[in-house]
Amino acid sequence: LVCARNVYKRFGDNEVLKGINMDVNPGEVVVILGPSGSGKSTFLRCINHLETMDQGYILVGEEQIGYALRGERLHRLGARAIARQRSQIGMVFQQFNLYPHMTVLENIIEAPVGVHGRKRAEAEQLAYSLLERVGLREKADAYPRQLSGGQQQRVAIARALAIQPQLILFDEPTSALDPELVGEVLATMRDLADQGLTMIVVTHEIGFAKEAADRVVFMDGGVVVEEGKPADVLGKPQHPRTRAFLSRFI
Ligand code: ATP
Ligand code: MG
Repeated sequence: LVCARNVYKRFGDNEVLKGINMDVNPGEVVVILGPSGSGKSTFLRCINHLETMDQGYILVGEEQIGYALRGERLHRLGARAIARQRSQIGMVFQQFNLYPHMTVLENIIEAPVGVHGRKRAEAEQLAYSLLERVGLREKADAYPRQLSGGQQQRVAIARALAIQPQLILFDEPTSALDPELVGEVLATMRDLADQGLTMIVVTHEIGFAKEAADRVVFMDGGVVVEEGKPADVLGKPQHPRTRAFLSRFI
């Protein structure tokens, strides 16, 4: 479903991504681990075009992010077409980024109605079923400030699902939460994984990687250093940099 090849990205003279290659199959859950500054967020942001890459390409489904084939030639997409591509990819951030002046329900139906042109009644019906799924049906009319951090993040997950994305990206979804709220968000994510959603998750939650990931990718210095099954990468890491990183968690 996702195919990233030789992705480079620099900010000024800071070369952040130095040739990332990654494949994600439909229904797969890939956890990306790596030290601070290794380029994990930048890579996720390239996938949904919040950053433009300098070199290489990323395919999501049939499409190349930022480009379209016209006849034989690759054409850089305009803002409208990019918005459409982006609207097929869900994203959940560390800071939940809910609209504070909108209720939970309004937050969730905003993109389906505003971007995808869904009928309001239809979008609301989907929103209620998503709230059910994340265990917050009774909070539909609450405002974000009336919710705990864990509840807000579950709303953010429901909102990401509301566009019925083929892929959902998580960037440290539990890092901003009080420790006692982390579990409920991870449980919600584990449910989604079990339901066959395609997910790329940047997290420092090694337990989640162990239990929910199909594959773990270790990034350092803008490259993929090591990847494989969780039991292999976490249990018997081959690369010294992976070992050094993981030793901090035990
Ligand atoms: P963390 O675990 O701390 O979130 P990360 O692996 O997600 O780290 P990135 O956020 O991708 O790392 O950042 C990688 C490097 O790119 C850092 O050196 C950062 O300062 C730089 N960087 C990221 N975004 C920008 C930007 N918009 N402008 C300039 N530099 C940036
Ligand atoms: Mg980051």
